[in-house]
Amino acid sequence: MPKIKQLSPHEAQKIAAGQVVDRPVNAVKELIENALDAQATQINIFIEDGGKKLMRIVDNGCGMIPEDAQLCFAKHATSKIERIDELESITTFGFRGEALASIAAVSRVTLITKETHAEQGTKVTITEDTATEAVACTAGTDISVRDLFYNVPARAKFLKKRETEWRQIVQLVHAFCLDYTSIHFKLFSEGKQILNCPPVEQVIARFTQIFNHATSTSMLTIDASRDDKRVSIAGAISNHQTFGYNRSGLFFFVNKRWITNHSLQRALLKGYQNVIPQGRYPTACIAITIDPQFVDINIHPRKEEVKFAHPRVVEQLIEQTVREALENNLSAQIKQEVKIAPAHASTTHASFNPFDFAHSIQPTFYSGQGQNNRVQQNQRILNSPQTEKNNFRSRPVHGTESAVLFSEKNINNQQTLATQQEETSHTIIGQLNKTYILIEQEDGLFLVDQHAAQERILYELFSSRFEQVPTIKLMFPQQVTLAKEDVQLIEPHLNIFHKNGIMVEPFGSDQLIITSTPVHIKNISLEELIKQVLGWITEFQHLDEKDFFKTINEKLHAQMACKAAVKAGDVLTHEQMQQLLHDLHTTPNRFTCPHGRPTGWLLSTHDIEKKFKRKA
Ligand code: ADP
Ligand code: MG
Repeated sequence: MPKIKQLSPHEAQKIAAGQVVDRPVNAVKELIENALDAQATQINIFIEDGGKKLMRIVDNGCGMIPEDAQLCFAKHATSKIERIDELESITTFGFRGEALASIAAVSRVTLITKETHAEQGTKVTITEDTATEAVACTAGTDISVRDLFYNVPARAKFLKKRETEWRQIVQLVHAFCLDYTSIHFKLFSEGKQILNCPPVEQVIARFTQIFNHATSTSMLTIDASRDDKRVSIAGAISNHQTFGYNRSGLFFFVNKRWITNHSLQRALLKGYQNVIPQGRYPTACIAITIDPQFVDINIHPRKEEVKFAHPRVVEQLIEQTVREALENNLSAQIKQEVKIAPAHASTTHASFNPFDFAHSIQPTFYSGQGQNNRVQQNQRILNSPQTEKNNFRSRPVHGTESAVLFSEKNINNQQTLATQQEETSHTIIGQLNKTYILIEQEDGLFLVDQHAAQERILYELFSSRFEQVPTIKLMFPQQVTLAKEDVQLIEPHLNIFHKNGIMVEPFGSDQLIITSTPVHIKNISLEELIKQVLGWITEFQHLDEKDFFKTINEKLHAQMACKAAVKAGDVLTHEQMQQLLHDLHTTPNRFTCPHGRPTGWLLSTHDIEKKFKRKA
């Protein structure tokens, strides 16, 4: 018969601690909340090894008297309530009197604290034993949590890679910065300052402190309410021209608590529908204020999720407010653009032809200095917002009707394309809609989608020979400015770029410098490519090393191919069309583009004759 044993209080506490703290980010959250509860106006956060080695939070709040400095680590020790019936009415954070006890049970803690007017401070050290001494220190509280789970190996095992834990902490600190604009936050990693956010008046100003891409002109303020203000939203969202590559710029707060809620995210993204490209994400901070009786904050042990009594009301409010803000901003911009159009006309229509394909297989062509200058020029033109916008708008939408036509004919066409390509005696008629190459052949009219075709050609080149693609040294190396934590995130993975002929290195703490690229992608926006890769690193970091590399490598090839390929709308010379068809002929998987669209199809003479009623 098994015999029941009662766990020692010490062991029981270690187990219970896991409810409050299961990753570094939870501990950081509790400690920042304590600092806020203590009325701090300045909070410095020091992290080492993603919090696994050290989490230190220093605040200038009210501090503690010596008795409290010891007592605060006891279970159920709190200055915030005395009786259970007060629980409902309190406005401060978190578990009541659980956080410090839990954290101290599973780590090595040093607390240094002093009340504002006290002569001396107190230092409490808790490891296997507890020690207390009087010390000289500044007012406020300085708490260091070291070696999380050093005494609970079963939990330590579940800690993730440094970057994963760090990323979560950064996200948390961003959220606090956006939620508490009057507090001065600083964040440090391995002693380096990553974030410095002095108090600001408006949440938009916070965005510009946190994210490089967010500027006061790229963010729009929102403010709206429903049901006689029983629910209202306020905050800021990015405009239609500013977007990121993952959801890490989306923040929701309910009654001053940072929460995650997929329905709210979906509502926000619906507001952006058809405004930003698919797979791109806005930056947004939406603070919801709602009558507490219409929201349940206790569905999650750490209160990170909430349940609304009437979710649709909140979702519709968000979707509608976002859509209206974007529409108003867009129509204001269109008016402005119409006014200034004449002055801009020449830049907008800059004669930039990204179709360098015919030359790109001869890398020596680019070694001349004049050519390099042109590369730079093109790069600039391509990167200018005017051109980017234009390119984006001029992309054709591929209707479903033609898609069906493509797939029905597909099997037939694969054969036809093969035969057609094998006989080199085709006649190129020309270009249709600056999008399709028309080829006359015995059995009919063959159409090739110039973008899809070159996308496949480049994709195969990049993926089969990526370690030997011809590269070009940029005469003026390109600098890309990123957030410091993004530089740290991407740094361990720069070999993915190097393997693909993109020579990129960190440059200072918030920049990367690119010194050479494959010739084929010399005209594409490298900044966008790097940001895209950052998004994938976040998205796929749960994979093991091999799959991680493989996935990102493949995505990079597809992206480089798509961006570098000639676009619909680009005029091609006869030689360029000839070259494209020649290269397509020697490319594997040439019948579809990497996204599965066909590269070409045949309108048979038979079908044409039927249309003209020459044949039954
Ligand atoms: P709770 O915050 O729910 O009261 P904690 O375990 O987080 O529980 O903290 C216990 C107590 O320690 C708090 O009630 C507060 O009195 C004190 N305390 C914790 N952190 C600080 C701080 N940074 N400044 C001042 N007092 C603090
Ligand atoms: Mg607390």
